Amino acid sequence: MSQQGYVAAPPYSQTQPGIGALSPPLRGHYGDPSHPTPPAGIMKPAGPLGPTAPVGVLPPGPPNSGAHQFVQNGPNISGYPQQRFPGPPSASDAAPPYPPYSHMPSATYPSPVSSSATTQLTNQLGSMQIHNYGPGMASGSQGIPAPPSAASFQGHPQLPQPAILQPGPRMPPPPPSMHNGLGTTPSLPPASRQDALPGSGPPTANFSSLPLSGQPPGPGYPPQPGANYGPPQMPGAQLSSPAGFPGGPAQMAGPMQPPKKLDPDSIPSPIQVIENDRSTRSGQVYTTNLRGQVPPLVTTDCVIQDQGNASPRYIRCTTYCFPATSDMAKQSQLPLAAIIKPFATVPPNEMPLYLVNHGETGPVRCNRCKAYMCPFMQFIEGGRKFQCGFCNCVNDVPPFYFQHLDHIGRRLDHYEKPELSLGSYEYVATLDYCRNNKPPNPPAYIFMIDVSYSNVKNGLVRLICEELKMVLENLPKEEQEEASAIRVGFVTYNKVLHFFNVKSNLAQPQMMVVTDVAEVFVPLLDGFLVNYQESKAVIHNLLDQIPEIFADSNENETVFAPVIQAGMEALKAADCPGKLYIFHSSLPTAEAPGKLKNRDDRKLINTDKEKTLFQPQTNIYETLAKDCVAAGCCVNLFLFPNQYVDVASMGLVTQQTGGTLYKYNNFQRHLDSQTFLNDLRNDVQKMTGFDAIMRVRTSTGFRATDFFGAIYMNNTTDVEMAAMDCDKAVTVEFKHDDKLSEDSGALIQCAVLYTTISGQRRLRIHNIGLNCSSQLADLYKSCETDALINFFAKSAFSAVLTQPLKTVRDILVHQTAHMLACYRKNCANPSAVSQLILPDAMKVFPVYMNSLLKNCVLLSRPEISMDERAYQRQLVMAMSVADTQLFFYPQLIPIHTMDIKSEILPAAIRCSEERLSEGGVFLLANGLRMFLWLGGSSPPELIQGIFNVPSFTHINTDVTSLPEVGSPYSQKLRLIMSNIQQKKPYSMKLTIVKQREQPEIAFRQFLVEDKGLYGGASYVDFLCCVHKEICQLLS
Ligand SMILES: [Zn+2]
Repeated sequence: MSQQGYVAAPPYSQTQPGIGALSPPLRGHYGDPSHPTPPAGIMKPAGPLGPTAPVGVLPPGPPNSGAHQFVQNGPNISGYPQQRFPGPPSASDAAPPYPPYSHMPSATYPSPVSSSATTQLTNQLGSMQIHNYGPGMASGSQGIPAPPSAASFQGHPQLPQPAILQPGPRMPPPPPSMHNGLGTTPSLPPASRQDALPGSGPPTANFSSLPLSGQPPGPGYPPQPGANYGPPQMPGAQLSSPAGFPGGPAQMAGPMQPPKKLDPDSIPSPIQVIENDRSTRSGQVYTTNLRGQVPPLVTTDCVIQDQGNASPRYIRCTTYCFPATSDMAKQSQLPLAAIIKPFATVPPNEMPLYLVNHGETGPVRCNRCKAYMCPFMQFIEGGRKFQCGFCNCVNDVPPFYFQHLDHIGRRLDHYEKPELSLGSYEYVATLDYCRNNKPPNPPAYIFMIDVSYSNVKNGLVRLICEELKMVLENLPKEEQEEASAIRVGFVTYNKVLHFFNVKSNLAQPQMMVVTDVAEVFVPLLDGFLVNYQESKAVIHNLLDQIPEIFADSNENETVFAPVIQAGMEALKAADCPGKLYIFHSSLPTAEAPGKLKNRDDRKLINTDKEKTLFQPQTNIYETLAKDCVAAGCCVNLFLFPNQYVDVASMGLVTQQTGGTLYKYNNFQRHLDSQTFLNDLRNDVQKMTGFDAIMRVRTSTGFRATDFFGAIYMNNTTDVEMAAMDCDKAVTVEFKHDDKLSEDSGALIQCAVLYTTISGQRRLRIHNIGLNCSSQLADLYKSCETDALINFFAKSAFSAVLTQPLKTVRDILVHQTAHMLACYRKNCANPSAVSQLILPDAMKVFPVYMNSLLKNCVLLSRPEISMDERAYQRQLVMAMSVADTQLFFYPQLIPIHTMDIKSEILPAAIRCSEERLSEGGVFLLANGLRMFLWLGGSSPPELIQGIFNVPSFTHINTDVTSLPEVGSPYSQKLRLIMSNIQQKKPYSMKLTIVKQREQPEIAFRQFLVEDKGLYGGASYVDFLCCVHKEICQLLS
């Protein structure tokens, strides 16, 4: 709807300083403690949203905001958690003038457009003189051996090699600010500038000069109108990159052993970037008062305070400054995207969302584009009208919502209304927002257990039934409610389905068998979905009996699609949304809809048909997914495969209904139970929005064009999710359709309509304002590498369904080179071609990109099954920025040097074999797995302390958890592991690896800076490759 608005929008060309200045005086809006009663219509944040913020976390006010405000703030802070949005402040308090930007935040984080940016530039400029490949390279061109390169890189000695890896803007250095250390890399020794390091070769013939613009699009991603993904500037022929870079196993496994290695310490370190951000920003309060400011990295712990823009926990962007024109966007090829995690968990020391209730009238919205009332609306004409910040339409203020304006044109109740002063808040939805205009029923959870022969024999059925008793005790509920409103139901199945009546007044559960799997029906309504507490005795009776009932079953075949169908029909019959929990083991080969055949055809790998292995083998699952979304039925799938099960087909409904896929290969009860049970408990208890629909609105000049996630798109604008939990993120790409105004910026509003766990219909609104600029340098300054990688991973993993994998990899490399070449050409100081110059905010982008290129989804490896690849693809599609950051650059922590007395997590080290040591013990985690790697001469006292055995050889590696030894080493290590595990969506299975023993191969794949065992470039090689391509683009 918003899109039409743009086209027709009258040119309200007057700029809107109010929007640019949407930066309320800090904490002025926490109101006057003398008005303790919340105004009507604002309820306290409700149940699942968490407790209120403790007092202590609020930051001090800005020094420049004046004594008056300090006085006012003092008492407010202490009174704040109880008062929330208390009564109107007195006239003088209510209308503090907007502080000019120059006064803004000396105490908070500087805007990237202000001191922060200039400081970065200083640092960039400073580092420009000092970064190089290290001492080994100081002697100029003859001193440095060529980096390892594939054969076709060679033979063109006339072009110099990448030399200096450094940011280098062309702006003069402004004075540095103490707020910003992002650009500094203190660990790098100063050295003289190197302009002409020789090395990996020059452009090859088939890479002849690439024009920067004006070329027709090449092959690549499916054509999308206006899409900036893909290489619109590159002629198709050039997509066949020389030497098959990136990641072609054959090419990369070739002549890659240089006589001397480049010093890895001289290339940008992800660890350094993470630590720099931590040292300057962790433990502080980040306020979201300024439009376009770049938040702390996802790896930095800080307290976030909403002051008009959504917290980065909810929305992160690839850049916080959009280009003013589509030409600029095309020129840079920087993707413009937001990664939105609408139900993100906020820590207890941050404020949960306010709930606004306007009663029967519902939320105030723009008449034209339907945007919800938010800080981007500008009140005019004495408060009788408001101008929409998204489509510029001037709307009447409804009488019930009228309020006078103060002398700077702001409503007197500005700080009392969350929707006027906060980036994120919720509305109670009226019946207009409900299905069939009636209030929804609370959701239901249906547990569906595969009771085929092998599952019964290996004890899985018994394990699940035992565990469910505990899980059901912890069904999620609203904070203020005594019991969960969620109803539960039970189904077992093999070739047929068994429904159970567990009505509370029954002495025994009753089983009803449905043998017609072609057209499943629900054999009972009353007694199938029940309140757990009321039916507890019958349910426990059932869970005790299920393993016995099927103990003698010899049925090996299973159905699958009919199981989903049955669950969905049951929810439809009960007229409620819900989740299915399906516990399944084998390829569904029984005669039924959705029957699958084994198509694990390795011959297709590395051919153009490889993409078909990621597609479902029958379209019945797509139809089923659509029906499930329409019914609000989310499918969570727990897979326990011993062989190929066709995850690409079986996982599709899960993917498109906002569900989560869990997979436990070769499940062994004694090794894998804990991982599985943690996942199950965590999933059942997750904060979840049901029957959800998301709409992203934007200000004029750009719009959301593509969406990636565990979502279903029935049309081009509505993102539908049968359910969406606190870990799921949707990545949204934006395109220009007009020029953006630097004054009004680029505004985004994400609205999610959903049903709570207690059955209340709500709207969750997140707003964020970004800057716009006609200077390319501003874009690069405001980039966020972690968000960029999230976008590239999802768009690439989406493209593998339709494109040959090599094409997808090539596009990623080309776009990487293109983004960096554009920076080099337009933003960096003139310098020798041999220099590789990276924007400060993207200086570790290549290492992440290289890791993405090497991921098994994009590059097959002999030891990774097709199911595993389809599984990882599906997981990444729903990941948040923090999850993709860890997934593509695992955390590697030295354990042997940890300070057992310190509370602090030891600093991570770079993911490279060179960083390991024979005498060390290292923990690695990527969000799905954990490894404890033991060097061949690990200290015996450490081994004793962790494993309670005398030596390395006595360590049993056939375990998935560490013994509880009780020693300080053991306690500290277990604490570190639990800290890493905390807040991660998947329980990470632990593998213990001894140096030089076979399982080490699996571990080494996670050392992402190194060359892959089966292909995939090292970080250094990738930099050389990218640099070469940049040189070609610039020549
Ligand atoms: Zn509007």
